Amino acid sequence: MRKPTTVIERNTLIKRWDRVELKICLCSPVPYEASVLNLALQIIYSMWNMREDVLCERAFPNVYDGVLSLETKHKLSEFDVLAFSLQYETDLINVINMLKRNKLLGKRRDNRPLLIAGGPVIMQNPRPFSSVFDALFIGEIEEVSDKFLDSLKNSLEERSLDSMLDVPCVYMPSVEERYAKRCYVKNLDECFYPTAQFYPEGIRVAFGPSFLLEISRGCSYNCRFCLARSIYMPLRLRSLKRVEEILDQGLKSTKLNRVSVISFAAADHPRLVDVLESIVSRGLKFTLPSVRVDKVPLEVLTLLRKVGQRSVTIAPEVASDRLASIIRKGIYPEDVVRLARELFKVGFRKVKLYFMIGLPGENEKDVIQIPQLIEDIVKVGFFRVSVTVNPLIPKPHTPFQWLPFIKKEEFEERRKIIINGIRHKNVVKLSFLNWSEGVIQVVIARGESDIGRRLARVEGLLSKRKTWIEILRYLRERPKVFHGFSIDDRLPWEVVDVRISKKFLVAEFEDFHRNLR
Ligand code: SF4
Repeated sequence: MRKPTTVIERNTLIKRWDRVELKICLCSPVPYEASVLNLALQIIYSMWNMREDVLCERAFPNVYDGVLSLETKHKLSEFDVLAFSLQYETDLINVINMLKRNKLLGKRRDNRPLLIAGGPVIMQNPRPFSSVFDALFIGEIEEVSDKFLDSLKNSLEERSLDSMLDVPCVYMPSVEERYAKRCYVKNLDECFYPTAQFYPEGIRVAFGPSFLLEISRGCSYNCRFCLARSIYMPLRLRSLKRVEEILDQGLKSTKLNRVSVISFAAADHPRLVDVLESIVSRGLKFTLPSVRVDKVPLEVLTLLRKVGQRSVTIAPEVASDRLASIIRKGIYPEDVVRLARELFKVGFRKVKLYFMIGLPGENEKDVIQIPQLIEDIVKVGFFRVSVTVNPLIPKPHTPFQWLPFIKKEEFEERRKIIINGIRHKNVVKLSFLNWSEGVIQVVIARGESDIGRRLARVEGLLSKRKTWIEILRYLRERPKVFHGFSIDDRLPWEVVDVRISKKFLVAEFEDFHRNLR
């Protein structure tokens, strides 16, 4: 049973229903507490509500059971459009359940709101979502927001989705099977930024409620397993002047004393130290939840500790030099130990580590080095080392997109090697992503539209067991989704152009294969 949440919130926007032409409900497939750290939701909510002719409310599965909007308690079926912002593969399951609870799944388009979705999981591969949604948005919304809202209005007026084809980043196979080209913001300084951000009072959220500050978008590194790199390129920086404007406006309307600097490449921002000093000089604390700590200067780590952050995350991903050079993250085991010593010196006593298994060319020797590296970090003196080990999900639009997913026996063997190699079990807290959850992720990441259709047709709400049964049936028909594709195959996600060339991906794929020999 999901626990219902009563939300008392600041910066909620409530508009009159009789004064607008387009009513949109922004739906989150994950609970309220997990969505307040989602910058995309903050951007869309503020930006769409700025239009006089539009209102945008929100719905969450744990608020009014996901059937009423948070702001005015209207039924989801009363809105013109339901817009979903989706981050993870398993969001598909939550979306299907949310639509089922609202009796909207499988209904004809003229008897229900338009269903649209966007977000990283849609950019990576819209196919599995295309049988549930009418239109899928590929990219970043800010620069095309007005055009997109106008196309929604026209589609509703004309009772036809055709006018949505005016927006080139919309994927809509039910109308026309065409490539959708990812749209992105060219200049972060010129684009809209939400300064009056909604936040809850009296509900625990990760890191505590904080003002979300994005100082850059995209990433300058070339990690071969990483989807974010491909779908958020190129790297764009927000100027210090604009960041300070955002902070000053944000402080007026968002009365929080903590700022989350949420950019992947925050460490690459040439003015990062100035940004952090600006935050501190305004009497605020900050966190850097997604930063690569191996790339930030020591003074930033010291500042982080000073403002009260107690734990840091390092993601070496692998523990052997050989695999480190294959994944191209640019961090080697000896760097990890050196970094851990620096972190300890500046006062951190807890560290989180992320590793992957199931990489191309990985052998027992590579895996044995994972617990050895963990033990080297324990020796530095930390009193808590939390380790998460995930199987590699070979993601679309990356040089690993053609690879197989790790087999169950191999996964279990490698898991045992890691568990048995840990001696300081009182210091190290190990957790593994369940193998079957990895399979579900890989199927939704690399599947065709029929996986969405199958899941949507299951009787009643989708449970873990029902989902797993459908996933196994699907893999019998489409084994390549699990076992890997050949370089000449037409891949399901090639219906979107995320602006990364296939020639580059093939060259990278061939390059790491050469190095495996
Ligand atoms: S540094 Fe992080 S975000 Fe950037 S490419 Fe590597 S894994 Fe992706």
